[in-house]
Amino acid sequence: MVLEIKNVSKNFGGIHALRNVSFSIKQGEIYGLIGPNGAGKTTMFNLITNIFEPSSGEIVFNDENITGLKSHKITEKGICRTYQNIRLFSQMSALKNVMVGGHSRSSSGVFSSVFRTKAQRKEEQELEKNAEELLKLVGLFENKDLLAENLAYGQQRRLEIARALASKPKLLLLDEPAAGMNEKETDSLYDLIKIIQSKGITVLIIEHDMPLVMKLCDRIAVLNFGEKLAEGTPYEIQNNEAVIEAYLGKE
Ligand code: ATP
Repeated sequence: MVLEIKNVSKNFGGIHALRNVSFSIKQGEIYGLIGPNGAGKTTMFNLITNIFEPSSGEIVFNDENITGLKSHKITEKGICRTYQNIRLFSQMSALKNVMVGGHSRSSSGVFSSVFRTKAQRKEEQELEKNAEELLKLVGLFENKDLLAENLAYGQQRRLEIARALASKPKLLLLDEPAAGMNEKETDSLYDLIKIIQSKGITVLIIEHDMPLVMKLCDRIAVLNFGEKLAEGTPYEIQNNEAVIEAYLGKE
């Protein structure tokens, strides 16, 4: 197992955002986290990346208990995420945005120092080369010098994924990557996530686009009012009465 969520709960004052949720993700899987608004999905991402600590329970990554570990340490261990609302450096080029993502894993102050050592220049060249490869992967190489704010919405979403990949994650958390995308953009997002999987990266995805989720995911957990309502293959989830009742609705 790459990630094990063990009896995790999170309370915000009187709100039980998550209650005793457990699930495990296998190496190389695309695992979906779905459920109605306010079900606790983003809170789960915030606990995995330790934006907040769980009120109780444990988060285990590659057999190591990472509960409460500092967020940057979690990134170093190999977990990276995108956000529900795009968080790019809008005044930086697409290329620089991805380089910054890679920089979060590197040691020296490449971007902060004016007087760079030879080693730092070499490191920056490597970051640039890696960023260019990632921009090719997400189909944005031609746009590498454009400011992030001048990219189309779907392109910005793909740029966020490239930036997350720059830190060479073993586990990629995607928070509603298809939100606001048109059909064509969603199709190319599907292809991209499949390519990411083929590179051996495990993916945990929160998404409301059900056709995409059902086509993409190997397994899915459904959250409802902070509790795990069901877990299974897309077929099992689509045919689960409780899930249909609470979230999917009848055709
Ligand atoms: P959506 O699909 O709308 O993004 P979600 O499933 O991601 O919803 P969360 O954002 O995790 O749901 O929210 C779960 C519950 O926890 C909600 O009731 C929300 O108001 C509450 N919550 C989340 N973060 C906080 C916080 N920082 N402070 C207080 N309450 C919070």
